[in-house]
Amino acid sequence: MLLKNDRYNVQGVDLVDLAEAHGTPLYVYDADKIKAQFDRLNNAFGDVKLRVKYACKSLTNLSILKLLRSYGSELDCVSIQEVQLGLMAGFEPAQILYTPNCVSFEEIKEAVEIGVMINLDNISILEQFGHEYHGSVPVCIRLNPHIMAGGNKKISTGHADSKFGISIYQMAHILRVVKTYDLNVVGLHMHTGSDILDAEVFLRASEILFDTAKNFENLQFIDFGSGFKVAYKTGDITTDIEDLGNKLAESFKSFCADYGRDLEMWFEPGKYIVSEAGLFLVKTNVVKTTPATVFVGVDSGMNHLIRPMMYDSYHEIVNISNASDTKRVYTIVGYICETDTFGLDRKLDEVKAGDILAFKNAGAYSFSMASNYNSRLRPAEVLILNGEAHLIRKREVFEDLVRNQIEIDI
Ligand SMILES: *Cc1c(COP(=O)(O)O)cnc(C)c1O
Repeated sequence: MLLKNDRYNVQGVDLVDLAEAHGTPLYVYDADKIKAQFDRLNNAFGDVKLRVKYACKSLTNLSILKLLRSYGSELDCVSIQEVQLGLMAGFEPAQILYTPNCVSFEEIKEAVEIGVMINLDNISILEQFGHEYHGSVPVCIRLNPHIMAGGNKKISTGHADSKFGISIYQMAHILRVVKTYDLNVVGLHMHTGSDILDAEVFLRASEILFDTAKNFENLQFIDFGSGFKVAYKTGDITTDIEDLGNKLAESFKSFCADYGRDLEMWFEPGKYIVSEAGLFLVKTNVVKTTPATVFVGVDSGMNHLIRPMMYDSYHEIVNISNASDTKRVYTIVGYICETDTFGLDRKLDEVKAGDILAFKNAGAYSFSMASNYNSRLRPAEVLILNGEAHLIRKREVFEDLVRNQIEIDI
């Protein structure tokens, strides 16, 4: 979002005009930023054979999937429906990794039939898989290296009590199952959680994976998951992708030399690719002064953007209707009948009813977590591509709320 002549724009598209044209609340994505993030990651590992599998749960709009496909991305899916969306967006099954957790074996069989790479994270499922397919279907194993990482305990997945992955301490059991069923293990995977601050965490976890990899003869890739940290405020520490790239590429190459073959390096970033590309535009309904606080009440709530309430995420908020630079302190809240505070004690250019506010970092886990709570309609989504705004999802209408309801005679 750039400021020019007191007006905010993305790729030259005026944001207040955009909010007027499409109404609010409105999600807006900047394709240039998505491309920049994708390219930066894709170029950080030198001559290592890299595959970036965009974790589409962060933002699943079909146009976003097609955009990322056009940049050379592949896909990481956590449900069969995400796999189907990926196919609709034109991904080949071979480009899709399916990483389920606690899903039914029926769903895993469906994914096998589609032909996507299966990533298993439970010994009992590995046994069922072996029983069903033996070595005929290649498989990846998700390990838990028990490296602590993550910005918040709800998004940290590598700790000892995590429900994700098979514990590295169960390796003897894994190997017994693999041998008994003659499983064809072609990949090892870890995902330690979101918000990894420094390369060291990754490197320590990767050493564990490299050690483990020696037990498997048929590996084609090692998947290092994701968890790259992006900036939420100016001056935030973020993952230094180039530093990580240099260090990990070096240790990966020496591992490959030991292993005797060049393997592929996979990543599955979600937030890193789309977080900063997204803005959420809302309109100020009321400015309400109480004895201690000036509240700005907007036309959205935790139903459309739950991250601040769910894991205390910070979204910078800007009054894009008034770039006057007379700052005042506000607490920005939603219209839901629960406490849904978007931002506490924020300095904003003076806010009047009707002003449009922009929330930053609204690309990842924002629309994709939106609900109809309070019987509100979900927002529209706009993609700004080559300097033009494209509506990529219509705003819901009342009919969408009642579409699947069946009224019985009472
Ligand atoms: C959610 C998830 C990701 C993406 O995590 P980000 O923090 O958004 O990059 C990657 N891999 C798996 C298995 C996930 O569940």
